Amino acid sequence: MIDLAIIGGGPAGLSAGLYATRGGIKNVVLFEKGLPGGAIASSSEIENYPGVEEVKSGMEFMDTWNRQCFRFGLTHQMEEILNVSKKDDSFVLKTYNKEIEAKNVIVCTGSIPKRAGIKGEDKFYGRGVSNCATCDGFFYKDKEVAVIGGGDTALEEALYLTNIASKVYLIHRRDDFRAAPSTVEKVKNNKKIELILSVTIEEIFGDQSGVNGIKYKDKNDNISTLNVPGIFVFVGMSVNHDILKNDNGSFICEVNKKGEVKVDLKMKTSLKGLYACGDIREDASRQVICAAGDGATASIEVINSSH
Ligand code: NAP
Repeated sequence: MIDLAIIGGGPAGLSAGLYATRGGIKNVVLFEKGLPGGAIASSSEIENYPGVEEVKSGMEFMDTWNRQCFRFGLTHQMEEILNVSKKDDSFVLKTYNKEIEAKNVIVCTGSIPKRAGIKGEDKFYGRGVSNCATCDGFFYKDKEVAVIGGGDTALEEALYLTNIASKVYLIHRRDDFRAAPSTVEKVKNNKKIELILSVTIEEIFGDQSGVNGIKYKDKNDNISTLNVPGIFVFVGMSVNHDILKNDNGSFICEVNKKGEVKVDLKMKTSLKGLYACGDIREDASRQVICAAGDGATASIEVINSSH
């Protein structure tokens, strides 16, 4: 039986692994279906992680985490965990072909980008519609692109895309942004970004070769068309909580209305031995530094409760 299973290899999972192994927990396994690093690895740049003064790409930033967090005995299994269930005093983790028992589990499965629900969005997803500027931005070198959203992600990725695209239209449904004021300022001062505000997107259109453009409606119901081959949608995140569901759709631990896992200040869920960290937990600040703090807090609690 594994002493501690950590599910998800982003900042929360890696930090939990580092603290648990360095703190003396022996058999600690990080389950991550891909390479550890998490969603932040595909972020264009990180400039608000204290101690890392030089602005780095998400990939470059997580590279050192990967080396450091495995230094004290943490192991990585490239497995997708499909389900977690309680069995007596331990937990059973199901993969496609086996069951793994673990005494304690820290769930750090994070969140995924939401779809905006625009007509044509699903149809053209992967054929001109994307949620990752670092992955797909290059396809639009010297071309015009549109970014949808008004939060930190949309604005930061719009700024990143100005390094590649000839022009970036930032389309937002209000005239006020959720993003940090300093980021809003950078966007407003960037000559390659044109703001299209207080509009409703009607449709993403295209043909067999992919996206051709976007139609939107202003406050006076006037419809405009923007001919762009690439559309980046950044309209928030939803939590990855499916592994915590029972067969009947209920959850093995308490979650709030948004499906975020309820935790106490030690990251303990309502189920003894089960912890939730990072974006998946209630009231998460959705910041790398906070996810990392959650992971450390949970592992310290696992260590303390094992004495
Ligand atoms: P977010 O802050 O929730 O912003 C989502 C944006 O999308 C909002 O502007 C929202 O408009 C718009 N939106 C939502 N649904 C829409 C729809 N159906 N159609 C059109 N627009 C829609 O999401 P996020 O930018 O992904 O950020 C998530 C969290 O991560 C936030 O807490 C953010 O601060 C954090 N984050 C931080 C950093 C950083 O610190 N550097 C970087 C990235 C993300 P309304 O404003 O009108 O609701």
